[in-house]
Amino acid sequence: MAASIASTFSGQAVRADARRSGSRRSAPRSGAFVVRAALEQQRMATPFDGFKFESIRESQISRAMTSRYFQDLHDHAEVDVVIVGAGSAGLSCAYELSKYPDIRVAIIEQGVAPGGGAWLGGQLFSAMCIRKPAHKLLDELEVAYDDEGTFVVVKHAALMTATLLSKVLAAPNIKLFNATAAEDLIVKQDKRGKYVAGAVTNWTLVSLNHDTQMCMDPNVIEAKVMVSSCGHDGPMGAAGVKRLAKLGMVEATPGMGALDMNSAEDAVVDRTREIVPGMVICGMEVAELDGCPRMGPTFGAMFMSGQKAAHVALNSLRRQQELEAAAKEGKQEEKPMVTA
Ligand SMILES: Cc1cc2nc3c(=O)[nH]c(=O)nc-3n(C[C@H](O)[C@H](O)[C@H](O)COP(=O)(O)OP(=O)(O)OC[C@H]3O[C@@H](n4cnc5c(N)ncnc54)[C@H](O)[C@@H]3O)c2cc1C
Repeated sequence: MAASIASTFSGQAVRADARRSGSRRSAPRSGAFVVRAALEQQRMATPFDGFKFESIRESQISRAMTSRYFQDLHDHAEVDVVIVGAGSAGLSCAYELSKYPDIRVAIIEQGVAPGGGAWLGGQLFSAMCIRKPAHKLLDELEVAYDDEGTFVVVKHAALMTATLLSKVLAAPNIKLFNATAAEDLIVKQDKRGKYVAGAVTNWTLVSLNHDTQMCMDPNVIEAKVMVSSCGHDGPMGAAGVKRLAKLGMVEATPGMGALDMNSAEDAVVDRTREIVPGMVICGMEVAELDGCPRMGPTFGAMFMSGQKAAHVALNSLRRQQELEAAAKEGKQEEKPMVTA
């Protein structure tokens, strides 16, 4: 078989084959024609032969996309939780919130491709290492791994990220807006002080062109709680805590400390918290704010920090409900709004 396929690519061999098969021709044919004819003869049937799509008008496709997108923007102008950054921490937070179908969640991701830094396991290596007991999330998601005793290894980081992402995207209470950047925070003030009340958003391509174009005002998503999971410092990274620092709502952001795998992961999960009223931080953004050590290519802390952030956000929502109920009854609430 291999020899016959190879021979069809040699014009001479094909012409010889054609002569042997006794084909009669009224005029000499070009080598290219003969090669094409021979390939056609050799083409084997597939289940897709004769496949035909339903007919369509181009405008139908345009309306199908735009109507849904603008409906989504309309429906998510106000949500319970807005998650900024769809890396491993943000997606884990969204996954945990998918278990609470009454909580409405929007995810803002500046990149076209959600997943952040979790498509590879470290450097350009494929395998993803996760220290126990964070492997329980893998069990829950039915992601296979090699058990190495104190840690587990997923054969490709993309398998874990794709599985987590697929669960989040399928959840009815969650909407991902990708290629959309959080440019700023909505910050309000009441008698308890300043609090975060949502995200100021823009299409990333617009955000990147503010210096070349005018009149590119942003959009907004009001939220009772924002979860900031913007990752490392960089052109867009650590955006939430950097903005808080500029506004004087937190101390400066010293950046992550030197690597210490053992203490780093515990520290990030432990310090995942509501940093100012209405804003929870998780993932590597925690290390940026607190200067706690980096951990290198172990991802358990990102997943656990994200899941913890979901529960901190739920606690904040409960607390806000209590405050509203107390206000309606005319009771004075003196307790601070921050929940963790
Ligand atoms: C220089 C470098 C050092 C690293 N060091 C470590 C380390 O020490 N420890 C470790 O575990 N891993 C490290 N990593 C690997 C990896 O980046 C992280 O572990 C992991 O991806 C962090 O998860 P995260 O969810 O916090 O952030 P990320 O995976 O980075 O996800 C953040 C997401 O937020 C999005 N985003 C950021 N800003 C905005 C915005 N304004 N609006 C909308 N979306 C936004 C980003 O596009 C991204 O998708 C490192 C990576 C790099 C490049």
